[in-house]
Amino acid sequence: MLTEYSKYLEYKKGELCLEGVQLKALAEEFGTPLYVYSASHIRDRLVAYKEAFPGALICYAVKANFNPHIIALAKDEGAGADIVSGGELYASLKAGVEPSKIVYAGVGKTAKELEYAISSDILMFNVESFMELDILNEIAGRLGKRVRVAIRVNPDVDPKTHPYISTGMKKSKFGVDIKTAKKEYEYAGKLKNLKVVGIHCHIGSQILDVSPYIEAAQKVVEFYHELVKLGFEIEYIDLGGGLGIKYKPEQSNPEPSDLAEAIIPVIKDVKAKLILEPGRSVVGNAGILLTQVQFLKDKGHKHFVIVDAGMNDLVRPAMYEAYHHIVPLDRRERPYIKTDVVGPVCETGDFLALDREMPAVERGDYLAVLSTGAYGFAMSSHYNLRPRACEVMVEAGSYKVIRERESYQEILRL
Ligand SMILES: *Cc1c(COP(=O)(O)O)cnc(C)c1O
Repeated sequence: MLTEYSKYLEYKKGELCLEGVQLKALAEEFGTPLYVYSASHIRDRLVAYKEAFPGALICYAVKANFNPHIIALAKDEGAGADIVSGGELYASLKAGVEPSKIVYAGVGKTAKELEYAISSDILMFNVESFMELDILNEIAGRLGKRVRVAIRVNPDVDPKTHPYISTGMKKSKFGVDIKTAKKEYEYAGKLKNLKVVGIHCHIGSQILDVSPYIEAAQKVVEFYHELVKLGFEIEYIDLGGGLGIKYKPEQSNPEPSDLAEAIIPVIKDVKAKLILEPGRSVVGNAGILLTQVQFLKDKGHKHFVIVDAGMNDLVRPAMYEAYHHIVPLDRRERPYIKTDVVGPVCETGDFLALDREMPAVERGDYLAVLSTGAYGFAMSSHYNLRPRACEVMVEAGSYKVIRERESYQEILRL
């Protein structure tokens, strides 16, 4: 059932629609590859977070999808922004996000980015190393500011997700070991241009089973009490993002309330404000990628459907061996075949699906690649000098372009 991905995604008179907008009509008007997002889906997810976590600050993780219209939509729902670069800070401020709702993580913030964020008076820097503490303190001093920091701690829990998106384990480059993080806190406490206000952790992404969150929250709460005993005034506990979404037909689509049931009992006695940084679980299933079948190719033992969306448009299958469900836009009766769905890019890794049992399609047919609202367009590139796709937002039967398709001239202009 496609409505399990998004209640706004359904066949009407045999044609796939998102929020009542016929997707084939969009593909014909704007061409393919084309990203289409449901505004209501994004809004619903943010409302669900707000309702599940009353009093918490929800910071939308901009890296999942940095389209300014999407950031603005999140802002309109009261969300702040979780950023990981100067570019994301710029986009968030431009979209109207209040600096007092922006948190900034990342292992490699440059001096220029730190200066920009300090001058912007953001809520909190999520610091990932001793050296970053020093540099942040130095730049803050130079700018005559005192900045609020949390230290990103690594609770060493296994989020049971793809290794490339596990970020809270010992061997990961992120954060500092929670067992020794007291040293970083004591050090930060002595730096006069820093004010230690929080604890941050983010254990990974695409987490479908909430038990790793319980484990991480328990460790963070234990550490919180230790810090309070040492005299730190911890105002914020930031548990990051990472809640997963349904990609495969047999997977579930966990709700923010499932996460709340896991976390809230653990943190209920903590006198600090909770911050969450959801990305994928807000926009992931709000978006689909439309692509058109160019050629079919049979090599005897192997069948290929060659489409006009490649790894430059959607890199997740190549990068994480990610599964994306693919369906034709029209629901005609078709026999099933086993096929690879591949793009036009000159790389063997350029595939959207391998050995997939799916309806046999023909040249010219349109396909929808589901669950592509997060880490889709945001990870796209110009590889093979392919212009980036157009993005359209639909809402209650109407639609608007939120980013035009790039032209060759645009790409070469600089
Ligand atoms: C990527 C990231 C997030 C968002 O992760 P999702 O899995 O998209 O929810 C949140 N916080 C930090 C620090 C991140 O790096």
